[in-house]
This record gives sequence, C-alpha cells and structure tokens, in this order.
Amino acid sequence: MPKINLGRKKKPRRKTESKASYQHIYQNKRWKRIRAARVRLNPLCEICESFGITRQVEEVNHIIPFMLGSDQEEVENLAFDLENTESLCKYHHKLVDNSFNI
Ligand SMILES: [Zn+2]
Repeated sequence: MPKINLGRKKKPRRKTESKASYQHIYQNKRWKRIRAARVRLNPLCEICESFGITRQVEEVNHIIPFMLGSDQEEVENLAFDLENTESLCKYHHKLVDNSFNI
C-alpha cells in the first residue's frame, strides 16, 4: 500500500528558538520599566475589556513582535516602545501570540 502524504508537516519550532535568543530583552531594565508603565496605564486585559469583561492584566504583549526587527536596533526599538505594547490576560496573550506562529 503506497504511503499517502497528507501534507501535514510539523510546525517549525521557530518560536522556542526566538524565545531563547531574545531572552535578554525581557531581563533588560528598559523592558521592566515599559512593562510597568503599560500595566499602570492599562491594568485590565484590553481584549476582555472590549467585550465588556473585567480581567486583570497578566501579561504585556508586543503588538508588533520585536523579533521581526531586521537588526539589533530595530529589535530594541520595537521591544522598548510603550506604544507597541498592550495589556492582556494569559488567555488572550496566548491567542494573539499563536496568530504570529502560523
Ligand atoms: Zn483577556
């Protein structure tokens, strides 16, 4: 019986690699300040809030992922830009994160 290839390939594990190589961003004091400022500005998950649900912020998301930066300067500009962040709950952060992982 011939083997049928259904075209289902395992997704590349790019995200895991990126997480490891960009870990220094999350340990940077500038990021800690930006994160704290975003939480102060938006103490609630912004997506939940748009549905009228009140849920505390759990994670701060980069709207444009900083790993898309083409060089170190662009990566840092995206990573440390308050305007490029949003307050999310864990559920919505995971949902938004996965949409960049197709
Ligand atoms: Zn939410």
